[in-house]
Amino acid sequence: MKCKVCRGHAVVDIRRHNAAFCREHFLDHVRGQVARTIKEFRMFGPEDRLFIAASGGKDSLALWDILLDLGYDTTGFYLDLGIGGYSNRSKEAAIAFADERGAKLILRSLAAEHGYTVPELARLTGRVPCSGCGLNKRYEFNRAAIEEGFEVLVTGHNLDDEVATLFGNVLHWNTDMLGRQMPVLQERIFGSGGSAHVALVKKVKPLVRLAERETAAYALLKGIGYVVEECPMVEGNTQHRYKEAATLLEENSPGTKQQFYFGFLKRAQSNFSSSGDDGAEVVPCAQCGAPTVRWDVAAEPVCSFCKTKALAYRRRESAQRPARRER
Ligand code: SF4
Ligand code: ZN
Ligand code: ZN
Repeated sequence: MKCKVCRGHAVVDIRRHNAAFCREHFLDHVRGQVARTIKEFRMFGPEDRLFIAASGGKDSLALWDILLDLGYDTTGFYLDLGIGGYSNRSKEAAIAFADERGAKLILRSLAAEHGYTVPELARLTGRVPCSGCGLNKRYEFNRAAIEEGFEVLVTGHNLDDEVATLFGNVLHWNTDMLGRQMPVLQERIFGSGGSAHVALVKKVKPLVRLAERETAAYALLKGIGYVVEECPMVEGNTQHRYKEAATLLEENSPGTKQQFYFGFLKRAQSNFSSSGDDGAEVVPCAQCGAPTVRWDVAAEPVCSFCKTKALAYRRRESAQRPARRER
């Protein structure tokens, strides 16, 4: 196997590109793919302050490393989900990465912000852990980015992640989600004039041209110490199953994932509206101010995050009540 660029010994092959690369040219290739994606989708410029959602895994740390190499102004953000040893080790990986590079890292935890961890939230609400986890991560990443004064939230979603999400959205015809499935989501401003404020920060995914295997190879070749183990709560995650199904198709026909995702962006995405199937209005949540879809004009609009948090608090309180009476 020879490098496509220098004909030297290749260490990584990419079947969908029918190409192999030596270490140096593979790292160049990865940086080139990310730079191309940032430019093509007008994600951000050198003047922007980037807020990197750093989970401690290979994708987010590889992305952070690439953006540092490309000279961007980055700050990492680690959200502790409270998933036992897995969260502790992820946090250590994010801290070690930032320390080694002298990069800035902001740490927050769900326990300190909201008084629960992901396993507790799942137990209290009776929902699968990934559902509450995803909701809380989206909410907290956005909230932290706005509070800390960043213009752009950058996440490490790779091609495999986007294909799995697209696969699920198509299988269930989640047309609203299809309308929002883009590598860039522009910021949303509420109010006007002096009362105008950012409700949703701009969100971008610069790794969408790279498969999971490639971000892992990049992290390995750069000596990035990431958390290799999977989250222990991943069992039952539907996204995970869609990923496996797409990988089966890719094995038999390299390039399938790329065609599916980029074909969707090019030829189908604009046919879907992001404002709700029935044109429901997006308004500020009456409790926290975050954007939410108003389905019922007669009811006070409350976002999913606030509803889930309230449910968890109610259940916790009612579980504690009999114990108090016994005292
Ligand atoms: Fe959260 Fe599920 Fe991912 Fe674990 S696997 S970090 S619970 S979304
Ligand atoms: Zn080479
Ligand atoms: Zn809310």
